[in-house]
Amino acid sequence: MSQSSGTSPGLDRSALLEAMEGTSNDAIITIDDRGLMQSFNPAAERLFGYAQDEVIGRNVKMLMPENFRADHDRYIANYLETGVKKIIGIGRVVLGEKKDGSTFPIELAVGESKIDGRSIFVGFIRDLTDIQTEQRRVQELQRELFHVSRLGEMGQLVSGLAHEVNQPLAAIMNYLQVAQQMAENLPSADSNPIPGVLEKVEAQAKRAADIVKRLRAFIDRREVERKSENVATLIEESLALGMVAKAGRGPRVRLDIEAGIPNVLVDRVQIQQVVVNLVRNAIDAMASSPRRELTITAEAASTDTVRIAVSDTGPGIAPEIADRLFGAFVTTKPEGMGVGLSICRSIIEGHGGRISCEPNTGGGTTFAFTLPLEQRTDG
Ligand code: ADP
Repeated sequence: MSQSSGTSPGLDRSALLEAMEGTSNDAIITIDDRGLMQSFNPAAERLFGYAQDEVIGRNVKMLMPENFRADHDRYIANYLETGVKKIIGIGRVVLGEKKDGSTFPIELAVGESKIDGRSIFVGFIRDLTDIQTEQRRVQELQRELFHVSRLGEMGQLVSGLAHEVNQPLAAIMNYLQVAQQMAENLPSADSNPIPGVLEKVEAQAKRAADIVKRLRAFIDRREVERKSENVATLIEESLALGMVAKAGRGPRVRLDIEAGIPNVLVDRVQIQQVVVNLVRNAIDAMASSPRRELTITAEAASTDTVRIAVSDTGPGIAPEIADRLFGAFVTTKPEGMGVGLSICRSIIEGHGGRISCEPNTGGGTTFAFTLPLEQRTDG
């Protein structure tokens, strides 16, 4: 087959390509093996707010939030060196940055091609902020989030309920024992039907206790899969997921991840759930703040733990809930369930870490938690 297969003989291939790029709803950006942009279609201009002339020949890193930029050269270099594909052909939800500095979640799919023996990478980019144009994908992600958080909420509800029901059950058993002793001591013990009835009550109370016990066991058995995870990837993905379909202009996002942090040993979905919760709470809190900045930092806290912190520039924690912030059903939001932070705490403590909250000196709040590193560091 010849090079021009798929096009009819009369049409100029580069004109066709231009038509395709020009009419695509997806932003299409090509970069060379140094990360320099070679093409930038009209949808990309609309999405990022740059004109083509402003970006051609410049490094694609300029379209990412500042703290993601350093990693990008490394990604390309690693790939060219090792051939290991982290994003090519896979597609990921990541963050983009517009010319005006605002950050927004995108779905990025990357393909690779070769021109004159050199790699060229084609990125197809969809904006995930706009529910109208990306309803399907957003709904999928929301369902995923919903599923993840519902599972957590269910577990929380069941353990809460089990705990509540256990207390009256224990009291019933105690009273029963007393009643049984009293019945045995009655003068006409043999013809007295009361002990027989009490036995039945006891059997039923034991049955209820058993149901509660099995429910708890079932929840505790929820599959938890701990694996070695890269801290930066974990945070970037959760951050993007947390920003999906949040109405309004995204906050400015700053990521500050200490170089060389070893992997953590965690259940990825659970830790994503924690970061997503904290990010969403931070965005909610900043809804009417003049300055809206979200900062996530990760640093070694000791030789075997990492500390991850999510800070916002919102109004701070409402004083009336401050002392039971991590309790269940504590909320100040009209539609809130108030279980997010209590789930965060169960997850983090389940991983052997701790979570806490502090006001920032310049206003706003920082939620910080620790996680176990896979291997101890020498530091
Ligand atoms: P929900 O978000 O459903 O209310 P959470 O348990 O996640 O449940 O949060 C409980 C409450 O804690 C919120 O209603 C809010 O009042 C407060 N809160 C959480 N995060 C922040 C934050 N970053 N800034 C200010 N208040 C917060």
